[in-house]
Amino acid sequence: MDHNCIFCKIAAKQIPSSFVYEDDDLLAFKDINPAAPVHMLIIPKQHIATLSDCTDSHAPLLGKMLALAPKLAEEHGIAAKVGPDGQRSGGYKTLINCGPNGGQEVYHLHVHVYGGPRPWRGLGT
Ligand code: 5GP
Ligand code: ZN
Repeated sequence: MDHNCIFCKIAAKQIPSSFVYEDDDLLAFKDINPAAPVHMLIIPKQHIATLSDCTDSHAPLLGKMLALAPKLAEEHGIAAKVGPDGQRSGGYKTLINCGPNGGQEVYHLHVHVYGGPRPWRGLGT
Protein backbone atom coordinates (compact mmCIF):
# COMPACT_ATOMS: atom_id res chain seq x y z
CA MET A 1 0.00 0.00 0.00
CA ASP A 2 1.13 3.52 -0.86
CA HIS A 3 -0.01 5.67 2.07
CA ASN A 4 -0.20 8.78 -0.13
CA CYS A 5 -2.42 7.08 -2.71
CA ILE A 6 -6.14 7.78 -2.60
CA PHE A 7 -7.06 4.53 -4.40
CA CYS A 8 -4.93 2.51 -1.97
CA LYS A 9 -6.92 4.18 0.82
CA ILE A 10 -10.14 3.25 -0.97
CA ALA A 11 -8.86 -0.34 -1.36
CA ALA A 12 -8.04 -0.39 2.37
CA LYS A 13 -11.60 0.85 3.08
CA GLN A 14 -10.17 3.94 4.78
CA ILE A 15 -12.20 6.16 2.43
CA PRO A 16 -15.84 5.27 1.83
CA SER A 17 -16.72 4.44 -1.76
CA SER A 18 -19.59 3.01 -3.69
CA PHE A 19 -18.16 -0.43 -4.44
CA VAL A 20 -19.59 -2.45 -7.31
CA TYR A 21 -17.16 -5.41 -7.34
CA GLU A 22 -14.45 -7.04 -5.23
CA ASP A 23 -12.30 -10.16 -5.50
CA ASP A 24 -8.82 -11.11 -4.25
CA ASP A 25 -7.06 -9.00 -6.88
CA LEU A 26 -9.47 -6.28 -8.01
CA LEU A 27 -11.91 -3.68 -6.79
CA ALA A 28 -14.41 -1.62 -8.75
CA PHE A 29 -16.30 1.43 -7.52
CA LYS A 30 -18.29 4.36 -8.86
CA ASP A 31 -16.34 7.42 -9.98
CA ILE A 32 -16.94 10.36 -7.64
CA ASN A 33 -17.26 12.78 -10.59
CA PRO A 34 -19.05 10.79 -13.29
CA ALA A 35 -18.37 11.62 -16.95
CA ALA A 36 -21.49 9.73 -18.07
CA PRO A 37 -24.70 8.39 -16.45
CA VAL A 38 -22.78 5.25 -15.36
CA HIS A 39 -19.06 5.63 -14.56
CA MET A 40 -17.07 2.97 -12.75
CA LEU A 41 -13.35 2.50 -12.05
CA ILE A 42 -11.63 -0.89 -11.96
CA ILE A 43 -8.40 -1.00 -9.94
CA PRO A 44 -5.92 -3.65 -8.83
CA LYS A 45 -5.73 -3.92 -5.03
CA GLN A 46 -1.95 -3.90 -5.44
CA HIS A 47 -0.47 -0.40 -5.94
CA ILE A 48 0.72 0.03 -9.53
CA ALA A 49 1.14 3.70 -10.41
CA THR A 50 0.67 3.66 -14.18
CA LEU A 51 0.23 1.38 -17.18
CA SER A 52 3.88 2.18 -17.97
CA ASP A 53 4.85 0.33 -14.79
CA CYS A 54 3.34 -2.88 -16.16
CA THR A 55 5.35 -5.64 -17.80
CA ASP A 56 4.52 -9.05 -19.29
CA SER A 57 4.17 -10.35 -15.73
CA HIS A 58 1.12 -8.10 -15.29
CA ALA A 59 -0.68 -9.53 -18.32
CA PRO A 60 -2.98 -11.83 -16.28
CA LEU A 61 -3.95 -8.96 -13.96
CA LEU A 62 -4.54 -6.58 -16.88
CA GLY A 63 -6.60 -9.28 -18.60
CA LYS A 64 -8.72 -9.68 -15.48
CA MET A 65 -9.29 -5.93 -15.30
CA LEU A 66 -10.43 -5.69 -18.91
CA ALA A 67 -12.53 -8.86 -18.71
CA LEU A 68 -14.41 -7.37 -15.76
CA ALA A 69 -15.60 -4.39 -17.82
CA PRO A 70 -18.30 -6.22 -19.85
CA LYS A 71 -19.58 -7.95 -16.70
CA LEU A 72 -19.96 -4.64 -14.86
CA ALA A 73 -21.48 -3.06 -17.98
CA GLU A 74 -24.08 -5.83 -18.17
CA GLU A 75 -24.90 -5.51 -14.45
CA HIS A 76 -25.27 -1.74 -14.72
CA GLY A 77 -27.38 -1.69 -17.88
CA ILE A 78 -24.84 -0.16 -20.29
CA ALA A 79 -23.81 -3.23 -22.32
CA ALA A 80 -23.75 -3.04 -26.12
CA LYS A 81 -26.80 -4.88 -27.51
CA VAL A 82 -28.04 -6.08 -30.87
CA GLY A 83 -31.83 -6.14 -31.26
CA PRO A 84 -33.82 -8.79 -33.16
CA ASP A 85 -33.82 -6.40 -36.15
CA GLY A 86 -30.01 -6.20 -36.04
CA GLN A 87 -30.10 -2.66 -34.64
CA ARG A 88 -27.22 -1.92 -32.26
CA SER A 89 -27.76 0.06 -29.04
CA GLY A 90 -26.20 0.75 -25.64
CA GLY A 91 -22.48 0.54 -25.07
CA TYR A 92 -19.72 2.25 -23.14
CA LYS A 93 -16.12 3.38 -23.24
CA THR A 94 -13.13 1.83 -21.51
CA LEU A 95 -10.15 4.10 -20.89
CA ILE A 96 -6.75 3.96 -19.18
CA ASN A 97 -5.05 7.34 -18.84
CA CYS A 98 -1.27 7.05 -18.47
CA GLY A 99 0.99 9.83 -17.21
CA PRO A 100 0.59 13.61 -17.47
CA ASN A 101 0.22 13.68 -21.24
CA GLY A 102 -2.31 10.88 -20.96
CA GLY A 103 -4.39 12.99 -18.59
CA GLN A 104 -3.83 10.72 -15.57
CA GLU A 105 -4.77 12.41 -12.29
CA VAL A 106 -4.70 9.52 -9.82
CA TYR A 107 -1.43 7.56 -9.90
CA HIS A 108 -2.88 4.13 -9.14
CA LEU A 109 -3.68 2.13 -12.28
CA HIS A 110 -7.38 2.18 -13.16
CA VAL A 111 -9.68 1.36 -16.06
CA HIS A 112 -12.56 3.75 -16.57
CA VAL A 113 -15.83 2.14 -17.71
CA TYR A 114 -18.45 4.73 -18.56
CA GLY A 115 -21.61 4.80 -20.59
CA GLY A 116 -25.38 5.12 -20.58
CA PRO A 117 -27.70 7.40 -22.54
CA ARG A 118 -25.99 10.38 -24.18
CA PRO A 119 -25.18 13.28 -23.92
CA TRP A 120 -22.14 12.71 -21.70
CA ARG A 121 -19.74 15.17 -20.19
CA GLY A 122 -16.97 12.83 -21.35
CA LEU A 123 -13.38 12.68 -20.15
CA GLY A 124 -10.18 14.47 -21.08
CA THR A 125 -9.35 16.52 -24.08
P1 5GP B 1 -7.64 9.74 -14.21
O1 5GP B 1 -7.72 11.14 -14.74
O2 5GP B 1 -6.51 9.56 -13.24
O3 5GP B 1 -7.68 8.69 -15.29
O4 5GP B 1 -9.01 9.51 -13.43
C1 5GP B 1 -9.14 9.60 -12.04
C2 5GP B 1 -10.60 9.44 -11.73
O5 5GP B 1 -10.73 9.20 -10.35
C3 5GP B 1 -11.44 10.71 -12.05
O6 5GP B 1 -12.48 10.36 -12.95
C4 5GP B 1 -11.96 11.14 -10.68
O7 5GP B 1 -13.29 11.64 -10.73
C5 5GP B 1 -11.87 9.86 -9.86
N1 5GP B 1 -11.63 10.07 -8.43
C6 5GP B 1 -10.69 10.88 -7.89
N2 5GP B 1 -10.75 10.81 -6.54
C7 5GP B 1 -11.75 9.93 -6.25
C8 5GP B 1 -12.28 9.44 -5.01
O8 5GP B 1 -11.86 9.80 -3.90
N3 5GP B 1 -13.31 8.55 -5.09
C9 5GP B 1 -13.80 8.13 -6.30
N4 5GP B 1 -14.81 7.24 -6.25
N5 5GP B 1 -13.32 8.58 -7.48
C10 5GP B 1 -12.31 9.46 -7.45
ZN1 ZN C 1 -2.33 3.05 -4.79
